[in-house]
Order: sequence, then structure tokens, then C-alpha cells
Amino acid sequence: MKQTKITLEENEIPERWYNIVADMPNKPLPPLNPATQEPIGPEALAPIFPMALIEQEVSQDRWIPIPEEVRQIYTSWRPSPLYRAHGLEKALDTPAHIYYKYEGVSPAGSHKPNTAVAQAFYNKQAGVKRITTETGAGQWGSALSYACQHFGLGCEVYMVRISYDQKPYRKLMMNTWGAEVIPSPSPQTEAGRKILAEHPDSPGSLGIAISEAMERAATDPDTNYSLGSVLNHVLTHQTVMGQEAIKQMEKAGELPDVVIAPFGGGSNFAGLSFPFLRMNFAEGQNIRCLATEPTSCPKLTRGVFRYDFGDSIGMTPLIPMYTLGHNFVPAKIHAGGLRYHGAGALVSQLLHDKLIDAEAVDQIESFEAGVLFARAEGIIPAPEANHGVASAIREAKEAKEEGKKRVILFNLCGHGHFDMSAYEAYFSGELHRHELSQQDIDSAISEIDTPEIPDTAA
Ligand SMILES: *Cc1c(COP(=O)(O)O)cnc(C)c1O
Repeated sequence: MKQTKITLEENEIPERWYNIVADMPNKPLPPLNPATQEPIGPEALAPIFPMALIEQEVSQDRWIPIPEEVRQIYTSWRPSPLYRAHGLEKALDTPAHIYYKYEGVSPAGSHKPNTAVAQAFYNKQAGVKRITTETGAGQWGSALSYACQHFGLGCEVYMVRISYDQKPYRKLMMNTWGAEVIPSPSPQTEAGRKILAEHPDSPGSLGIAISEAMERAATDPDTNYSLGSVLNHVLTHQTVMGQEAIKQMEKAGELPDVVIAPFGGGSNFAGLSFPFLRMNFAEGQNIRCLATEPTSCPKLTRGVFRYDFGDSIGMTPLIPMYTLGHNFVPAKIHAGGLRYHGAGALVSQLLHDKLIDAEAVDQIESFEAGVLFARAEGIIPAPEANHGVASAIREAKEAKEEGKKRVILFNLCGHGHFDMSAYEAYFSGELHRHELSQQDIDSAISEIDTPEIPDTAA
């Protein structure tokens, strides 16, 4: 298991976030007010987000300075290491050179604290007392709990009931960092009470949990709401990963031919790939950026580009996105972080303009890849991350067939230490392939009743 670990010094943590909007040939379309279908102004978001984050959400500036206090907190796990995967290369007997950026070194075990810390900082600065959010598998809730604890903010996490019951350790992690974790639907909110009145045994859903968290933030002046993916400012915060990776690849003396990341709402993909896309825009490089989604939730490869809600209940503004429809309920695969019906506006526009690529991987292939990786490299990936590993392995096998070197970089965006029950299901043969038929896709898309994107813009 020979590894090359490429590290950076603390003072090489980026000093600014990269906002890709400045370099996009076609800017993302504006979010719309669902009632009027007119573009929303920043003031529409003011009841739930601090102004600094709203400004970042609509910013056209290429670089956004990272506050020194945030950089200080980043030093507790950043710069994160980048490895050359000699063990995996050997196992695959490939001429490809495989590299991975490892984000499992953060306190919460994934890339999510990169934005959680920034969001908690700006909320604290704005005088907010408490942040609410939703969590499914628990990755985002734990990252935000950690960040809120650091700044002395209260944190209230609405956790989808079924995950709350099935994933006690993620919940306990949040409790340890001082967060209150509430199974959703809950009697605490109007939205929750309404669901409970009709379905007292409701297992909950991410859509319901979002409604509860947003309602709390909208009705309490001391409380704000926070989102862990999809939105522009979240993706921008994550670009610390790609900026570090560029320096690390330089140290290795190589430039990737392909940059790969698993895709839920787009934050770890954007965070690693956008700084490399900038090299395409600014320096005429031709680095392929590839997002990997599960075949059970294929919005990028089989969805449509149109306006849709960010949540499943229809509380958010309409966002221009690749989507399977906000009512689409993906199969219960174990990569919970990838079970999201849509994609962020930035990534969607880039995909539409063919500046990035996407492919889908079945969960069986993803776990085969993850187990092979763990045996070759030692690190056990999160089930979400396994999708990126699977794509990297596909690329390495292609390179072998061609008999040519290919430099592959992927995002190992989290470890799987709290997801061993998913590995248990895989080992015991309980996991199944999830390929949607064209009929399933057509019927999901035919239910979308939100506005289409005008041809002139698209
Ligand atoms: C949340 C999460 C994802 C999916 O979200 P993105 O915003 O697409 O990155 C993927 N991997 C891990 C480990 C996560 O925690």
C-alpha cells in the first residue's frame, strides 16, 4: 500500500474563494418568485439569510476574500491532503495516474464544514442567535453543528424521522457539538403538525424537514436558515478544495486530464472542479470535469433543464436547474447525500453549455469500487464518495485499453465510518441495481408544472 501524500503548508490555504460566475460565458438565469414568476431580488432572502451571504449569492466578482477568522478555523484540518493512489493503480494494472483529494480529515468527516464554518461566521457577525437546517443522512447537520458550536450559536437540526431512528450515531455527533436534533415531522412547527395530523407515523422526508427549518427561521427574528449545497454561495465556499488541489498537482508535476466528483446538489463537485474550469477559461486548458450521479437519481444525465423548486414542497424560489421534478422520490439507496431531485443553477448552466460532463453509476458498481479502493488505499469512503471512485476506475480502465497514460483526479469527499451499515447491506447481498425505465423518467418529468426556460436563454 505505497502512497504518496502531497501536503501544503498552513499559509497555502487559499485567501479567497473563486466565484465562477465571473468567467461563465452564459450567466445563470435569475431565480424566480413562484407566485409572480418575476426574478426575485436579494430582499426576498433577507428573512432567512444574512446580507453578506445574499451578496455572495448574487455576486459577479471573481474572487471573494475569505475572512481571517474562517481561515483560522480552516487550519484545524486544511490544507487537506492529496494522494497519489499507487495502490489502486497497481490493483487496476493501469497506465493511468490516479490522484484523490481527501476531505474526510475534517472534524465532521466530509467537505461540508468548508461552507458550514463560513455560514456560521457570517450569521454570527449579523447578530443571529440560532441557525436551523434540515439533514437527511446527517452529514450536513453534523458539519453545521460543529460550526455553530465554534461560534456559540444555537443549532436546531430537523432530521428526517427515518434517518433519526436508523442513524443514532450521526444524531449523537450533533448532540455532542451542542445541537438540538428534532425528528421531522415534529409538533414544533405548523408544517410538522399538519403532516402529523394526517400521518402520525410519517417517516418524514427532506422536503418536510426543509419546510420545518425554513418556517422556524422565517417566524423567529433571532433565527436564520442554512443550506449545505445547491446555492451559489455554498458552491463558492467549497472552492478552497480545488485551489489547494491545483497547487498540489503542480507539486506532483502533473495536470489532470479529468477531474471527477460525486454529485448530490453540486457542492463537492463544484468545489474541486471550478478552479480547474477556470484554467480552461483563463489559460485555454482542456481539463474535462465529470460529475457522477447515481442511476437511481439521474437528473444530470436524464433530467430536463428548466425552472423547479429546490425543495419538494415548493417553499423555495424557482431555480433554473437540471431536475427530475421536485416531486420525484428516488429509491432508498445508501448514498443518502445523492438522493436529491435537482442540481444547483451554476452547475446546471455549465452542463447545458457543455462545459462539464456527467455520467451515472449504479450503487452496486459504486460499492464494488469503494471496497476495491479501501483494500488498495486503506481509506473507507462514504457511500456518496464511492460514486466518484467508480468513475475514476472507469477512466483508469479506459486508459489501460488505450495503452495510454491518463491523469485522473477525484474528490474523496468523505469517509464512511458512520455508514458501515450500508457496507453491511452490500456485503450481505441486500443491495440492488436501480436503473430507472424511460417510462419512470417520462412520468416524473410530465408531472413538473413549473415554468420552462425560454429558448432564447437556453
Ligand atoms: C452531502 C454530501 C454529498 C452530496 O452533496 P454535494 O453538495 O453534491 O457535494 C456527497 N458526499 C458527501 C460525503 C456528502 O456529505
